[in-house]
Amino acid sequence: MCGIVAYVGPRQAHEVIIKGLKRLEYRGYDSTGIALLNGGLNIYKKKGKVSELESFLKGQTLDSHIGMGHTRWATHGEPNDENAHPHYSATKKLAIIHNGIIENYSSLKQDLLRKGHTFLSETDTEVFIHFIVDIPVNVTT
Ligand code: GLU
Repeated sequence: MCGIVAYVGPRQAHEVIIKGLKRLEYRGYDSTGIALLNGGLNIYKKKGKVSELESFLKGQTLDSHIGMGHTRWATHGEPNDENAHPHYSATKKLAIIHNGIIENYSSLKQDLLRKGHTFLSETDTEVFIHFIVDIPVNVTT
């Protein structure tokens, strides 16, 4: 079963999030990842254990005080780096992590593909962020 940790505060976000993800390891998972707001929105993710993500993060510039992390238990799409959460929107301005299943993801994905959306993973989750971006926004001033 998957897990989510998020942090906003004075400490280094990746340190708090990695610690939190380790506490959730007992639930079981196949891949893990974090998104940090540090200049831009940056995603780091890996198949395997939290310790493998931790090694991958070593030496990277991670200075951030806002972030979120996920341990994934795959339901749609094999366990690999691409299918690990978080997932970006096309502009890389939004990122999403999700626990559970989007039952009607297949029909939503077909609609989004017809509208020209491009998918980078096989997950049901990625449909959700494309769906959010696709919602028309009306601004009245
Ligand atoms: N259904 C999503 C996936 O396969 C989330 C699975 C989970 O809850 O970790 O990526």
